[in-house]
Order: sequence, then C-alpha cells, then structure tokens
Amino acid sequence: MRLLAVSKTCPGSAVRAAHAAGQAAFGENYVQEGLAKIDELSDLRPALAWHLIGPVQSNKTRAVAEAFDWVHGVDRLKIAQRLSEQRPAGLPALNICLQVNVSGEASKSGVGWGELPALAHAVAALPGLRLRGLMSIPEPAADLAAQRAPHRALREAFERLQAEGLALDTLSMGMSADLEAAVLEGATLVRIGTAIFGARG
Ligand SMILES: *Cc1c(COP(=O)(O)O)cnc(C)c1O
Repeated sequence: MRLLAVSKTCPGSAVRAAHAAGQAAFGENYVQEGLAKIDELSDLRPALAWHLIGPVQSNKTRAVAEAFDWVHGVDRLKIAQRLSEQRPAGLPALNICLQVNVSGEASKSGVGWGELPALAHAVAALPGLRLRGLMSIPEPAADLAAQRAPHRALREAFERLQAEGLALDTLSMGMSADLEAAVLEGATLVRIGTAIFGARG
C-alpha cells in the first residue's frame, strides 16, 4: 500500500515538512499550483514523486509531461497521445492511471466502463507513457457497504485488464473519507489530503 499525500492548497513548507517526516509522493490537483510547488521545492526534486490527480486540459499537456512523474486523471486518448508525444526523451515514461467514472455521474470526468478496455489497450501502447492502473473518485456515500461497492467494481475491472495482459500495478482509490473501504477492496495507492494536512482553508 502506497500513500499519496495530497498537498493541493497546502504551502510548499507543508510539503517540505512531510518530506522531512519520510513522505515522498505528493498529489496536486491544479496544474499551475503544482508547477509552482515543484519549482519552489526544486532542491528536493530527485527525492520526490509528483502526481497530478486533477483533470488535464489539452493546452496544459506539455507542461504536465515535462514536470510531473504521474498523471491520474487521464480519460481520453487524445490527452494521452499528447502527453506521450510531449514527454521529454531524457525522462522515464510518464506513469498513467486512467480515471474511471465509477458512479456513472453525467457531470463527472472519467471514462465509462464500456469504453475502458479499448482506452486502456490504446494508452498502454503509447511509447512515452507507462500505463500503471486505474483511479476513481466515487460519489460520497455514508456507510461502508455503499462505499465499498464502486471500489470493488474498479478492482474487478483492474483484474480483467490484467487478465488481458496489461501489466498494471496501481489501483488508485480512497480519500480521507472512504479510506477504509478502499483498503478493504484492495487499493494499492490511497490519496489522502485532509487527514494528513488538516482541513483546506
Ligand atoms: C482532494 C483530492 C483528494 C484528497 O481528498 P481528502 O478528502 O482531502 O483526503 C484525493 N483525490 C483527489 C482526486 C482529490 O481531488
């Protein structure tokens, strides 16, 4: 189980303190804020892994491909193709998790269940990327059983893709409010903000 510390809206000093306490992987939602923090903490760059967990617009793909180590919000082939083309040759492949719209909300980003297999196989073939797994942001639910259901569905889709030959190792699910449900359903990476850094102002 890996812990991604979600540092969105936190100052660089909070990331520095978390790193001093042993944390290496940090998640940012907003491209501009993430880029500014990566720049501010450039002295720590080799020791940190920066994950973009928010949506990626096509006009931001170059900056993202140049600065981040992971992108979790990919849900369209066009964005993946741009990230692959724009990943600098001197860097390792950019790690990708495909965002799945697990709750089927029309307003939410994420690929639908039906389109997921084709997208996963297409992204896995792009040379500048390394497809690592799936991520989700389910609708909030009050009780544990209701929280577990979308996480179980994501894990089952993940296992089907593995059975189809994709070398996936990352199931990015679970935030502060549904951490336990995600762990029970086999999350390999949990994205935790407020439970580490406190409420966002
Ligand atoms: C903000 C955010 C998190 C962390 O949420 P907390 O409730 O603060 O733990 C995780 N994942 C995504 C995609 C987020 O936007």
